[in-house]
Amino acid sequence: MDMQNLSIRFLGTGNAYAQSLGNSACVLENSSGPLLLIDCGHSTINAFESTYPNAKIPALFVTHAHYDHIGGLERLFYRLITTPNYKHQPKFFCPVELLPLLQQRIANYPSNLAEGGVNFWDAFHLIPVADGFWYQNMYFNVFPVRHHNPNSAFGITLRGHFFYSGDTKPIPEILVQFANSGEIILHDCGIEPNPAHTALSDLHREYKPEQWQRMILYHYESEAAGTKLEAAGFTVAKPNTAYPLVAKASSDVKKIVASPPSVSLHYCSPN
Ligand SMILES: [Zn+2]
Ligand SMILES: [Zn+2]
Repeated sequence: MDMQNLSIRFLGTGNAYAQSLGNSACVLENSSGPLLLIDCGHSTINAFESTYPNAKIPALFVTHAHYDHIGGLERLFYRLITTPNYKHQPKFFCPVELLPLLQQRIANYPSNLAEGGVNFWDAFHLIPVADGFWYQNMYFNVFPVRHHNPNSAFGITLRGHFFYSGDTKPIPEILVQFANSGEIILHDCGIEPNPAHTALSDLHREYKPEQWQRMILYHYESEAAGTKLEAAGFTVAKPNTAYPLVAKASSDVKKIVASPPSVSLHYCSPN
């Protein structure tokens, strides 16, 4: 395993309404190609196939069961199961709390093929996950975040390399535990505050400048929202751009001068 050339590449960076940005999902890759897909929304399979035309999805992890993060799973199932001489069975690392939800929302459909004979889970090597999992000699920690019901959304980290928040309100207590080793912090963030996600004003209030410097923000509302986040001094994820996972030492971190945003209260809790 080449752990020196790890990158994260976003396939999409938008929230559930931001069609042009694609559904938020990313791929951990190295110089050999894709290693792990994180989330699989409606737009993810198309984006993966155009980004890696000769590669299969080797493994995947899902953060939660909103359709902008799992809406591509049925398509992936059909892609796998209808491939001639089908053999590839990607590892599917799934937080154990999400299994009943995925069963209800996708896997329980009674007729996956008209001719019968196939279950949804036949296409995958399902690996239920609690605290973390091993994959290619790397250990990934998994932890609950703050998005809708307790224990219904999860983040993932590869210590020393990256921390991926998933959809969440601010989770400073989790970063203290799982993003304390120079990890790149890939974090949910939009402009408008709401009960399910992080907003620019939350970043200023809940996190430290040292953490701001390590953040790459995703799951924003629009290109215009991304521009506003950049104007506030933050790095914003762009679709189909690879971000090398070179851990930033605290000494490399320069101070951000970011002015507090004006806050407009527009409460709703989209996916
Ligand atoms: Zn969500
Ligand atoms: Zn979402």
